[in-house]
Amino acid sequence: MAAKRDYYEVLGLQKGASDDEIKKAYRSLAKKYHPDLNKEPGAEEKFKEINEAYETLSDPQKKARYDQYGFEDPTQGFGGAGGGAGFGGFGGFGGFEDIINQFFGGGRRQSNGPSQGADVEKTLNITFEEAVFGCTKRIRVTVDDDCMTCGGSGAASKSDIKTCPKCGGRGRILVRQQTIFGYTNVETGCPDCNGRGKIITKKCPDCAGKGRVRRTKDVDVNIPAGILSGMTIRVAGAGQAGFNGGPNGDLYLKINAQEHPQFRRDGQDIYLEIPISYSQAALGDTIEVPTIDGNVSVKIPAGTQYGAKLRLRGRGTKNPKGGSSRGDQYVICNIVVPTNLSKEESELISKLSVLEKQEKKSPWEKFKSLFK
Ligand SMILES: [Zn+2]
Ligand SMILES: [Zn+2]
Repeated sequence: MAAKRDYYEVLGLQKGASDDEIKKAYRSLAKKYHPDLNKEPGAEEKFKEINEAYETLSDPQKKARYDQYGFEDPTQGFGGAGGGAGFGGFGGFGGFEDIINQFFGGGRRQSNGPSQGADVEKTLNITFEEAVFGCTKRIRVTVDDDCMTCGGSGAASKSDIKTCPKCGGRGRILVRQQTIFGYTNVETGCPDCNGRGKIITKKCPDCAGKGRVRRTKDVDVNIPAGILSGMTIRVAGAGQAGFNGGPNGDLYLKINAQEHPQFRRDGQDIYLEIPISYSQAALGDTIEVPTIDGNVSVKIPAGTQYGAKLRLRGRGTKNPKGGSSRGDQYVICNIVVPTNLSKEESELISKLSVLEKQEKKSPWEKFKSLFK
């Protein structure tokens, strides 16, 4: 999953946009992506992203902190990146916020429950040989992980986690709001505890109350033999840490395998073009042909034509999805016409030419006879 986008960018604004511009951009985007109105995939995520951005940019204090620190706000309480944003900041739109509150009635509770951490994507460059034979690679990933000191709670100690006095631990409060139908009590997320129902009185010094720290870790990944460029390997659980006890995200490694100057791969098969002489093609020969296993003796049959494909069964690669069967190697015969003939060669080929003309056996003579 992508990194968190800049809040201004989310709303399609430049840094330093006015309150009016922020409000306007938010209203039009929130309408556009509201899950009740927009059923396209991804609309709900977009809507949440827009709301999170607005929640910060519409609050003068939060906005000032965001402008100064971005997402790395050291003064911010627990519930940093990835946590649900508070939803107390709506208002003044008359009517529309009802729909939003209704929607977040479901959404907020979800964000308090366990959720999976984000996935991490990386590209892995490997050599031709590593792709063909498989290898083990140590991959360095930097992820958000639970803070070991506080176990992810963000509190200096257990006794520093208290039930939120404002909402009594419910995470939600009733607020009186004006709507198009008149005044009504609307349930909304508790702004003091960000809907968590708990507050921290003393923050963990190692994570500044966020409960998470950036951590670099090495993961040993087994790259199966026969893997091809463009394939992706999933390393379960090696992504970002989950939230509230949820599982870790996964690491996705996109394979970029180097090409070999001579061997060309097609799935599990390998193709190799070899140059042979006219006489080898005409009379046949036995030659040592390179394969990924080393040289293999190959019989070129007499009368081999240009471009002929000889199959070496089982000399291709393994299937990266498993199993022991291997693909084949195909040897493509390119017949090379000699240049810079020696005197002896020239004499021999001249004799051949005379013979062909006498017997009217040359390919050209045969072709010409078709037009008589
Ligand atoms: Zn901590
Ligand atoms: Zn509360």
